[in-house]
Amino acid sequence: MPTPITGEMSVFESAEARFEIAARKLGLEPGLYQYMKYPEREITVYIPVALDNGQMQIFTGYRVLHSTVRGPGKGGIRFAPDVSLDEVRALAAWMTWKCGVVNIPFGGAKGGVICDPEKLSKSELERLTRRYTAQLVDWFGPERDVPAPDIGTNDQTMAWVMDTYAMHVRSATTAVVTGKPLDLGGSQGRREATGRGVMICCDKAVAKFKMKREKCRVIVQGFGNVGSNVAMLMHEAGYKIIGIADIHGGLYNENGFDIPKVHEWVYGQSKKLPDFPAGGEKMGAQELLFRPCDILIPAATENQITAANAHRVDCRILCEGANGPTTSHADSTIGQKGIFILPDILANAGGVTVSYFEWVQDRQGFFWREREVNERLQDVMEQSFDQVVHYAETHRVDNRIAAYILAIDRVARALKLRGFYA
Ligand code: GLU
Repeated sequence: MPTPITGEMSVFESAEARFEIAARKLGLEPGLYQYMKYPEREITVYIPVALDNGQMQIFTGYRVLHSTVRGPGKGGIRFAPDVSLDEVRALAAWMTWKCGVVNIPFGGAKGGVICDPEKLSKSELERLTRRYTAQLVDWFGPERDVPAPDIGTNDQTMAWVMDTYAMHVRSATTAVVTGKPLDLGGSQGRREATGRGVMICCDKAVAKFKMKREKCRVIVQGFGNVGSNVAMLMHEAGYKIIGIADIHGGLYNENGFDIPKVHEWVYGQSKKLPDFPAGGEKMGAQELLFRPCDILIPAATENQITAANAHRVDCRILCEGANGPTTSHADSTIGQKGIFILPDILANAGGVTVSYFEWVQDRQGFFWREREVNERLQDVMEQSFDQVVHYAETHRVDNRIAAYILAIDRVARALKLRGFYA
């Protein structure tokens, strides 16, 4: 995806700006404000990895624990070349607010390693994952901090994390990590969960505005775990997907795409999305965001919609599948255009919600049917949507600030009940 223009806010500044607006609206006491603003812990690890060519390379990794006020830290591990401490810190805070919005008993955390997973072999990735985990083994744990997949990591990565942790603590602790393969204590429905949650939010918004699914033109930027599942599920549900993009570029076709065929092209045949035959008009992945549509779903990475381009966004509903795709500077333009925003900390919370279900199932040693997982997810997402929209209407703020208020209020209440340990 294109890098953001200079002069825009960093992701951490964007996250902080929204937190501050919501904290002010909430009249948060200065002590609580300070407590929630800063993370509990930030760890940097230097990870030595023996490469396949026999040479050793040191990679830099992070784990930021933002909050354990409402439960163990929770959040993914990202493997990407542009990972930074600033980004991981923002993503960790977002996890706290996300778990607060959907009211699951977790705090927030995030990890990342600066690397290009495309350029590492499977065995190099395994050694990197295991050594990163070993260096953090004292901090991870089902009651401490529970990682999950994020950009550049997947269920296999989580299996390695689980095994490394298990070897160190000398017990098969599946609940230390979520997003695992089904054969290793993973949950039915986890892979599609973020995408399904995004669709549930869109369904609710569509019903609210008395629109019809079949008449909704949808653009999805990103074709990774979130984007590909959103596109598949929404296509199956009758929405018309007129724009799609992956890291190689975008495609636009006002007649709509046959998404299962695109999926087969990208995942079955390992081809680049923009080369999809009879695919429509080729364009940059960012340019796609400015085509007219009813629902726009940025599901790739941060800082895509900025102060410099927000005026070009032409949709009714903006549903954030990625974390932080819209900068704080762009919020007012999106608001002035009357766009109904489904903010990341609500819209993409389906993933961590089913991660919570996975953690519960692992600890019970009892596994649920897929239908049960999906129904519970639907309940959580619908309730959270209703609460956010209700807060927005009663506090006269946009849905994003409403979601922050809801989450900060929940964390603040738990914090007051716990009191401060001196
Ligand atoms: N990485 C995902 C997110 O940003 C999932 C986190 C989790 O399941 O813990 O929400």
